[in-house]
Amino acid sequence: MIHKSLTELGEALAARKISSVELSRLFLDRIRRFNPALNAFITLDEEKTLAAAKAADERIRTGTAGSLTGIPLAQKDIFCAQGWRTTCGSKMLENFIAPYDATVVQKLERDAGMVSLGKANMDEFAMGSSNETSHFGPVKNPWDTTRVPGGSSGGSAAAVAASLAPVATGTDTGGSIRQPAALCGLTGIKPTYGLVSRYGMIAFASSLDQGGVLAHNAEDCALVLSAMAGFDEKDSTSLDRPAEEYRRALGGTLAGLRIGLPKEFFGEGANAEVMAAIEAAIREFRKLGAETVEVTLPNSRLAVPAYYVIAPAEASSNLSRFDGVRYGYRAPEYDDLVDLYKKSRSQGFGAEVKRRILIGAYVLSHGYYDAYYLQAQRIRRLIAGDFAAAFKECDILLGPTSPTTAFKQGEKSADPVEMYLSDIYTIAVNLAGLPGLSLPCGFDGQGLPIGLQLIGNYFEEARILNAAHGFQQATDWHARRPEGWAT
Ligand code: GLN
Repeated sequence: MIHKSLTELGEALAARKISSVELSRLFLDRIRRFNPALNAFITLDEEKTLAAAKAADERIRTGTAGSLTGIPLAQKDIFCAQGWRTTCGSKMLENFIAPYDATVVQKLERDAGMVSLGKANMDEFAMGSSNETSHFGPVKNPWDTTRVPGGSSGGSAAAVAASLAPVATGTDTGGSIRQPAALCGLTGIKPTYGLVSRYGMIAFASSLDQGGVLAHNAEDCALVLSAMAGFDEKDSTSLDRPAEEYRRALGGTLAGLRIGLPKEFFGEGANAEVMAAIEAAIREFRKLGAETVEVTLPNSRLAVPAYYVIAPAEASSNLSRFDGVRYGYRAPEYDDLVDLYKKSRSQGFGAEVKRRILIGAYVLSHGYYDAYYLQAQRIRRLIAGDFAAAFKECDILLGPTSPTTAFKQGEKSADPVEMYLSDIYTIAVNLAGLPGLSLPCGFDGQGLPIGLQLIGNYFEEARILNAAHGFQQATDWHARRPEGWAT
């Protein structure tokens, strides 16, 4: 059961070959055995999980189930889920019990009937690329536990990779779904900005934050994305568009698909083994009938610096709500109100979060705003323009997701700039608000998975999912599983 696709699990549930309670128990049992080594889950609540599974079984019994009803999932701990502790990986929210559901939780659990196995570990407030900034300790990569799983959705990625959950939610502000998917051998999709509601998703950088899915293959991503997307009046940036059944788009031919290869993604940046796997994948796409054209994204080299101005600027504003008064961590001792703010924030936030708040406040401050924030916004516009020009020449773009495979725990944590550079291929997509997907396309000499990125034009999730699915029908990289997490 643990290696079955979501479609197969749905069929097994519908045919009563297994109940949702049994299926959930199977995964809970694996979590009990393997989570201590991986630290993928922060919060578990078996009673809640089994109650939800029971309710799902009831829906299946009474004929009111959908295709995902009864299927377990891991929820990134950035999504508020009523009655569940929701920490966002921070001491600030260590004891915060969410009083309401995020729209994503509402849609996947309450409406579609999926069953939450627990809350997945993540970088603190989703700031990080290695899951080492979590207050709850680092997550280990199931392919090699001395290495990072990527971040910030590292708990989600490790959980799915080690089959502790069949699928997980994630969020991607600057690569946080695609990069951990790449480092853990998974398929992950970040949709067009505005497709998935941000209501109840703890805010990091609101103009970039977007929810999505991490799974083993494109078909599973398609199923869950269809269930989580859609207009939400509670999110002012949510887009009013008809819902799409992404799975229906799968299986379409790749013949004639024009794949753009941005020349900036094929320069020096990525390591040789990663590039060799990407080149091999390009040959596979050509075999499937796709054509390739060289395109250029001339401003993409400015994406990392622009992002690390804009995202901290928005974070400094979003995180001002954590003041020790309304909710969250409050310092035990203080002299007066200002001291209460100071101590609660100094003690409640970790080092990376403080760094972002300082950078953000600085770039927005009088005298520096024009030089940094405004300039970064201009670059953002240029980057979006580059993509618009590239999509005149091609249907989708292809390149590496991450410049390296999973790096060692501790390898980059002392050097923030080095860490930020792991986002070099993912971040431009967020700045432009485009959909992006990562899928496995090979392994390096040490047996670590390599991720390939596909980028679509606005609302072309179906097109990149179909391209990924076509590739996965012809290859089996996505079917490989790390050793050591026995069945
Ligand atoms: N590495 C990015 C950052 O630290 C990832 C952010 C994200 O996508 N949540 O900001």
